[in-house]
Amino acid sequence: MLDLVIEGGEVVDGTGAPRRRADVGVRQGRIMHVGDLHGADAIERLDARGRMVAPGFIDVHTHDDRLLLDPAADVHPKLTQGVTTVVTGNCGVSLAPLRRSGAPPAPLDLLGEDRWTFDRFEDYLAALDDARPAVNAACLVGHSTLRVRHVADLTRAATAQEAAAMALDVAEALDAGAFGVSTGLYYPPASAATAEEVIAAAAPLRGTGGVMTMHLRDEGDHITAALREAFRIGAALGVETVISHHKLVGTANHGRSAQTLAMIEQAAAGQRVCLDCYPYDASSTMLLPGRMGQSREVRVTWSQAEPAAAGRSVFELARERGVSAEEMARRLQPAGAIYFAMSEEDVQRILQHPMTMVGSDGLAHDVRPHPRLWGTFPRVLGRYVRERGALALETAVHKMTGLSASRFGLKDRGRLAAGWAADLVVFDAGTVADGATFDEPQRPATGIDHVFVNGRLACRAGRTVDRHAGQVLRRERRS
Ligand SMILES: [Zn+2]
Repeated sequence: MLDLVIEGGEVVDGTGAPRRRADVGVRQGRIMHVGDLHGADAIERLDARGRMVAPGFIDVHTHDDRLLLDPAADVHPKLTQGVTTVVTGNCGVSLAPLRRSGAPPAPLDLLGEDRWTFDRFEDYLAALDDARPAVNAACLVGHSTLRVRHVADLTRAATAQEAAAMALDVAEALDAGAFGVSTGLYYPPASAATAEEVIAAAAPLRGTGGVMTMHLRDEGDHITAALREAFRIGAALGVETVISHHKLVGTANHGRSAQTLAMIEQAAAGQRVCLDCYPYDASSTMLLPGRMGQSREVRVTWSQAEPAAAGRSVFELARERGVSAEEMARRLQPAGAIYFAMSEEDVQRILQHPMTMVGSDGLAHDVRPHPRLWGTFPRVLGRYVRERGALALETAVHKMTGLSASRFGLKDRGRLAAGWAADLVVFDAGTVADGATFDEPQRPATGIDHVFVNGRLACRAGRTVDRHAGQVLRRERRS
């Protein structure tokens, strides 16, 4: 007896293979059969004729560390997109291990002020187990978090002793089940770190099969040097290196993705490298006064100094006050922002590249978040697959499932086949679309009909049905 049969849908299995009509049988959280199940006994049957049935999407680039600890809302930004697994702790920022009271230095504060209570990574994963999150979680430990914990002066590189203390924490996190380490050398708490520091701190990664995700030191004028540094770190550790949210910022750099993608391909000939991106020509992070000049527009996502500024243009506010944009950005601190500084041509070229996975980089705690938090996956399927024909549907799904699972070492996920976990999404390829915009950033997607997490119906037509179907995934140690 099966728990569920999804009947008559077009199965897109996550490998990139062409869709085929098939029924999908599920029992006890696993996919049991893919084929003709019209005579099979099942407790529930779901008619999926005219719909795509795919593995649940994997959001490889998130900052959901804290979101997962709080029971999901009625409308969940990830479930409503068909996302069933998230990778947390990116850009060097993880919620653990770090215990402190009060706001940590930016950008760690993107995870808030009040949940820095985990001394060990294992304690964080145990708290996640207890919270029973809405989606599955694969967690990374962040180098910037470790710097804030161990490096006495963040304006210099770590001493050998401090790097050794970070390495102990990395080893603890990996033992607990972390999938790897993330870095954010672009950001103030880590910009003084050298490549040698990162290699020393992340040394326990060697030989484990864990990954290193990297927010490059520079995504503008100096991106080629930043890429070379990332390759050097990855090669020294012998790990899969994930170039996070690959992009080119600043008008002078538009079009250079042809060059950077060629560099990534060349590196991939000698080491394991891949990348992720989100389908928007605007980015979002802490509000940095120095970035006003390279952006055609900057919008406030939150501001502690002026909460009412959320959603407004920094340039417009500056004109109203008769100050420079840089001065306005300083007055809003601490704050976050959306920067319109990329070219659409680069966004599409990067998304189309065969080594590119999809990751939202959504910031769940922003007052007026970048719409990528609610819209990334349906936007790829609606805008880039259906409207533009920039990607085959099967290729897009592969970038959201099979490719991601294989690069991050997520066992049993990312593929629709017998024996794999029953993370499934049923969607309408003819209507799937992002609802979130820069003006209305928290509008759910449309066209995502059913989302199953570990065999349980978690979301139906945009409404959360089960807030606790997710599991905390733990990487198995390679012996
Ligand atoms: Zn980042």
